[in-house]
Amino acid sequence: DDTIVLSDLAKRMGIKAGEMIARLMSNGVMVTVNQTIDFDTATLVAAEFGYEVEKAAFEEETILHTAQPDDPENLSHRPPVVTIMGHVDHGKTSLLDVIRKSRVTAGEAGGITQHIGAYLVSTDKGHIAFLDTPGHEAFSAMRSRGAHITDIVILVVAADDGVMPQTVEAINHAKAAKVPVIVAVNKMDKPDADPDRVQRQLAEIGVTPEAWGGDTIFVHVSAKQETGIDELMEMILLQAEVLELKANPDKLASGHVVEAKLDSGRGPVATVLVKEGTLKTGDPVVCGVHHGKVRALIDDRGRKVDQAGPSHPVELIGLSGVPMAGDEMVALKDEKDAKQVGQHRFQKQRAKELAKTSRLSLDKLYERM
Ligand code: GDP
Ligand code: MG
Repeated sequence: DDTIVLSDLAKRMGIKAGEMIARLMSNGVMVTVNQTIDFDTATLVAAEFGYEVEKAAFEEETILHTAQPDDPENLSHRPPVVTIMGHVDHGKTSLLDVIRKSRVTAGEAGGITQHIGAYLVSTDKGHIAFLDTPGHEAFSAMRSRGAHITDIVILVVAADDGVMPQTVEAINHAKAAKVPVIVAVNKMDKPDADPDRVQRQLAEIGVTPEAWGGDTIFVHVSAKQETGIDELMEMILLQAEVLELKANPDKLASGHVVEAKLDSGRGPVATVLVKEGTLKTGDPVVCGVHHGKVRALIDDRGRKVDQAGPSHPVELIGLSGVPMAGDEMVALKDEKDAKQVGQHRFQKQRAKELAKTSRLSLDKLYERM
């Protein structure tokens, strides 16, 4: 169902929409400005004005999905991508802050982290990428859009409070996404901390600790006193090993948007998490319905970098517009292809929106009749 909105086609050809409508009408095709026409009609009318419509723009599938599966010997280990979830006030933000503070700066100069929505943390035993607790809705929204970003969920449960509604919700999200859970029993410093109760409550809803014959790792931590953090990091890397997370770094990158914004100075800025391949400055990219060429890549410490490999989060500058969280990002060889695919998607989305609004106004019209 390849279509283009008439006004978009006219605009791209640099002619008046009315002129195009008239020409179509004389060919027996009745359309209005906001209606869509199919590829064949577009080709026909464009030819009348001396244009050729490139079929490639209508064949994004062939442009984007010609990649061959990776040869196992081209795969190397990649860092796990971790999301912290749990009930409000159980310490998600505090825990992430401690992790970020203690790990990011260790042995690395200029350690102040920028808020870009994702962080790469280094430990003696390897790197871990953390998503900045996106909230449960964002997590499920991304998942429903097919973005499988997270490898491991850290479920934070306050030792004094125990299992609460959003704890259960988080477990359900993780289960639905088939992502393994590591339980961080937080606030162990509190006098009324009762980790055994947390363990019992979770076992009752199917999250059973290894000690009780289940397969869930439990770690006792205190974000406040910064205890248990090393063990938590170790457990994440252990779980990652079990998952055998691998990717081929030696190809064009693909990944997902974690967050995006319009920056007054830099234009559209998208934080992308590379899933496989390596994203490089100068790469043509398609990102959601937008396209562009990577003008600059900025890491989570605000430093300009030339490239970003698997599980590495970077800010990408150079897109034609602001994508949505969860959107797929794909690097292409050819800038022209990126532009065509991007524009094609953009038009498709516009056509959908216009179809919605014209249906709405028709409904209104009928209401009045
Ligand atoms: P979030 O809503 O899950 O992000 O929770 P926050 O990180 O904002 O923490 C909620 C409250 O719990 C804050 O007042 C924190 O200072 C406090 N808190 C977090 N972790 C700990 C901890 O390990 N021990 C104690 N005593 N308080 C904590
Ligand atoms: Mg928080």
